[in-house]
Parts: sequence; C-alpha cells; structure tokens
Amino acid sequence: MVAWLQNNPKININSVGFIIFFLLTCGAILITAPNIQNSKITLSFNGNEALNHVSVQISLNTTHYRTPGTKGRQDCANYFVNEFQDISLNITQIFHNFSVNSISCQNVLFKMNENKNNIVILAAHYDSRAKATKDPDLNLRNNPIPGANDGASGCAVLLELAERLYQRLNTLGCQLWFLFFDAEDQGEDSGGYGLNGWDWCEGSNKFVEDLSLFYDSTEETFECMILLDMVGGTNLQFIAEQYSTSSLLDELFEIGRQLGYTYQFPLLRTSSSITDDHIAFIDRGIPSADLIINFWDNPLWPYHHTLNDDINSISSYSLEVTGKTLEQFIYNNYLIPESLKYSSNAPWLFDMNAMDSTIVILLLVMGFILALLGLGSYLIKQRKDKKSQVQIDSSTKKA
Ligand SMILES: [Zn+2]
Repeated sequence: MVAWLQNNPKININSVGFIIFFLLTCGAILITAPNIQNSKITLSFNGNEALNHVSVQISLNTTHYRTPGTKGRQDCANYFVNEFQDISLNITQIFHNFSVNSISCQNVLFKMNENKNNIVILAAHYDSRAKATKDPDLNLRNNPIPGANDGASGCAVLLELAERLYQRLNTLGCQLWFLFFDAEDQGEDSGGYGLNGWDWCEGSNKFVEDLSLFYDSTEETFECMILLDMVGGTNLQFIAEQYSTSSLLDELFEIGRQLGYTYQFPLLRTSSSITDDHIAFIDRGIPSADLIINFWDNPLWPYHHTLNDDINSISSYSLEVTGKTLEQFIYNNYLIPESLKYSSNAPWLFDMNAMDSTIVILLLVMGFILALLGLGSYLIKQRKDKKSQVQIDSSTKKA
C-alpha cells in the first residue's frame, strides 16, 4: 500500500484519509449487515383485526382502563383468556399472581406447541398507566390513560398473531409463548409516578424471578424473547434499542425492510437504551429485542403518557407492519421442513451497541469534507503542475 502510494504522487494524504474512512465504513456495514433473506410464504396477519383488539381493550373499563389492581385489569385478562379459548381449548393458560405494594397483580401466559422444547417468547405489557403524567393539560394529569398504543397495541398484535400462527402450528418447529405482563407502566416519569413508589417493569421482573416454575429446565430451552411496546401508533418508526440483543433486533429490522417497511425499519435509526420488560430476560441470558418507538421526543407521535394515547393515535397499518414482520420472523426461523429455512442470525449470540444515527451522519459529513479538501488540493496541485509545465515549455522555446 505504502509503495503504491509512493508511486502515485497524485494521491494526497486527504484523499487517502477519505479512502480509509470509506473502506472502514463499508467494512463496518458489511460486518453488521445481517445475511437475511425472507422465506417466500404468504403472510396472513390482519391489521384491522388487530385494531379491533385495541378497541376492545380500551373500552372494557373506561373508569380505570387496565390500571393494576382494578376490575379493568381483570376484565382485560379475561378477554385474553376468551380469545385464546376461541382459538383452541388445548392452549395452556398460566396465571402468575404477585403483589406490588400490597396490590394484587397478574401476568398471563399462553403456551402453544408444547411438544417442542425450544421456546420463543412473544410479549407485551397489558397494564395501562394510572395517571396521564405527561398530559399537556396539568388539570388532567391524575386521570388514567386509555393506553391504546402504550400497552394495548402490543397485546393486540399478540392476539392476532396467536390466531394466525395457530393455523400453521403443525408446520412450526418451536414452542410459542404469548406473554402478557401486568405492572410495567407505573414508574416515575417527568410528571411523577403512575402509582406512588412503583418501579417500571415490576411484572416482568417478578416473572423472570419465578421463571423456573413455568418450564422444565431439564428438557426445555429458550430461543429468544421479542417484546412489543407502542407498536400501533400513527407514523410508526422503530428505534435501535440498545439493551436489545443487536443480532436479533437487526434481523427484525432486515425482515421488515425486505417486506417493504423501510420507513418503519429505517437504515439510519435513532439509538436509545429503554428500561423495558426485555431487560430481565437479557439478564437471564435469553437473547431479547424490544420493538419500540421514540416516545420522548417525537413530534410525529407526541401522545406518550397523555390522555391522547387513544384510538385516534392508532393505525391499523402500523399494527399490520409489526404483526407481519413477526409472522415472517417465525416462518423464516421455524418452518418445517428445514429446507424452507433461510439464513438467520440465530442463535443471536452477537451483540454490540449500534452507532447513533447522529454520529453516523457526523462521520459522513466529516468524510465528505475530507474528500472535498482532497479534491481541492489535488486540483490546485494540477494547476501548479500545468503552470510550471507552461513555464518549462516557454523557456524551452527561448532556448
Ligand atoms: Zn408507558
């Protein structure tokens, strides 16, 4: 390389810098880009059906919605039970009871395909926030929120997905858990607590503490856990959540992009670390990913923890984008016969922090400036060479 540079004096140090930067960037993209090709299969997830599941959840009890410890929370758990019983009476139901500050809470788990020992967990929280702590109207901040997106959307996708996957269950080589967490959303934000003294993710922490009660650790293993949180809002766009196992989250992004959802799963992503229900599973060593949006600084969906997190801020298309991406993920990885399988990042052991989109843009701008400088000094040098050539020519003529 050095010899080549010496033999090519037109290449100056600025353009060398740019070439190195360019090669490094390409290398980084190639290393991190998942080798994913969606298997060709017709997806059946229906966004309108999922939208209906959101509507039902937020209309079950408009006094408290699904606040922990209320009848609304119980009504919602019953709704899930009825929906799964409609799919099949053979689906195992498990109710995980626990209490937080003396209030009774309940995680709800449904298991399918239990003859398979490798478990995929699909999860969402179903409690709604007890107080609209970020509502623009300060007088309304003590009211409970409908939580159409924050809570109900993820559960709605799970319900519709369960129905669709059950129809192909005998072609799937994994056990499926549909897991609904209570007590996720009552922690303290900028406007105070949902419920005084509660932490975030109480339900998922308790669930993982008791995990050994829910499976046979001598026979069964966990493949991965995928969490859905705020997946049905208008202008849906997922972020690079940094606690997530990156090889799993990247795979979901690539699957979504190949389905044509390039706005919802952008190449340049906002990066952030979100305290959510997947953390306890990651700490337990289970590859986990959180499909979640930018909810703290997003003019395109500014309804987080406000009373406007209602049905008007939901899009059936967003629900369908999420549902079909998950449906494709399951078929890609677990369809039988194995010949239908595609290349995936399984078993999702690789994990790294992604660069924030701001840093990527900054690096690109720096590279562009370096390239401009290189081009500029090259042109100046060319001009000087030409000038001295003209001078030599004219002095030659004189001689
Ligand atoms: Zn929330």
